[in-house]
Amino acid sequence: MEENRILNEIAACDKLLIGIGEEWNKEALPDIQSLYGKMAKLIEGKDYFIITTVTDGEILKSSLDPGRITAPCGNVTWRQCSKSCTKNIWEPGEVADDICPYCKSPLTGNTIEAENYIEEGYLPQWNAYTGWLAGTLNKKLLLLELGVGFKTPTVIRWPFEKTISVNRKSRMYRIHGKFSQLPEEIKERAEGISENSGEFFRCL
Ligand SMILES: [Zn+2]
Repeated sequence: MEENRILNEIAACDKLLIGIGEEWNKEALPDIQSLYGKMAKLIEGKDYFIITTVTDGEILKSSLDPGRITAPCGNVTWRQCSKSCTKNIWEPGEVADDICPYCKSPLTGNTIEAENYIEEGYLPQWNAYTGWLAGTLNKKLLLLELGVGFKTPTVIRWPFEKTISVNRKSRMYRIHGKFSQLPEEIKERAEGISENSGEFFRCL
């Protein structure tokens, strides 16, 4: 069973990198909080990092360690000025009426969907991630790619393929309802599972 194999590999790896993509949204997976909770339990005590392209901020409400999560596409619950007159980013509810205190423009979510995305919101955790990733070279690294399609492939999908091709001790599972295909060059160390990654994870 693939499920058992993945659990064994989680237990055996030195480093665990989890990529989360567009399949993990609350509309498609109403029990998303319980899935994150399950993930937190499953990987407790592991040296892990999570990179997500999901911008709904749900992952930050879970019991997963925010110091081990990077969300480079941003987070709608963090607010920025829609005119980007300031690089300030506010927590939810921090600014009254959701209006920029400097230029009085409406605030908007601090995500790549914003007209001028203020990247300062994600950079500290991004730097933590790249530092962590540098430390995985020649380590027994397991990559779990969950529901990452082609919406923003430069963030997780393509870099994961590169990581797999560089680290000979690495192993990857690409789980996606539609896009689990793998390039020929990495098939030796990677496996595609054609199943919705949320449902797959729920049964893990
Ligand atoms: Zn402003």
